[in-house]
Amino acid sequence: MVRVTQGQSGALDALLAGYAAGTLSAPLHTLVASHLHINGRNRAYVEALESMRAEDILSIPGTPVANRDARLAAIFDAPAGDVEAEPVDDGILPAPLRGYLGCSLDDVSWKWRLPGVREARIEAGEGGSASIYWIRAGRRLPSHTHEGLEATLVLQGAFMDASGHYKRGDIAVADNDVDHTPMAAIDEDCICFAVTEAPLRLTGPLARLIRRLAGH
Ligand code: ZN
Repeated sequence: MVRVTQGQSGALDALLAGYAAGTLSAPLHTLVASHLHINGRNRAYVEALESMRAEDILSIPGTPVANRDARLAAIFDAPAGDVEAEPVDDGILPAPLRGYLGCSLDDVSWKWRLPGVREARIEAGEGGSASIYWIRAGRRLPSHTHEGLEATLVLQGAFMDASGHYKRGDIAVADNDVDHTPMAAIDEDCICFAVTEAPLRLTGPLARLIRRLAGH
């Protein structure tokens, strides 16, 4: 049994299980795939979940597939479509995230959110959002909670909050119960990929300002 040793491991386990079952939204799926790409620690755990799922499928009493050979032939004959160049790591962006963005960090559109905090919004919708944050070394973010789930994957540097210390490849999961003030480690700027499943609900004195800056 592979143990997940990180803080809030229940939430992280749920995320990994969702990934294995293929039920995550595209940004969350990308976040977990990127985590597994950088950091092999949870790979065996996910593979175990995936094989469990395969066994579940295999244990279902079989019903013969009509025209089995013809169906298989049709699947193998189907055009593969445009084969896109396999994205590669660029030192900061792991391949799955690079593929999701379709560009490098130089080409995303950065906006200053606070002194020392830049955000590149990748997706924003009713259900949540996906952004890359660039936080200057030692900078502390305003205190906030979340209405839904916030998963943050560290791409460079490190940050810490009351739940733990997160470095490249680590995922921090925060939800309604967490009121946190993340702070970038002092030795290097911190770059993160953050996915929220609902808009942030800010609790600190800067709440209104942030909301205005964020445009909601
Ligand atoms: Zn947060």
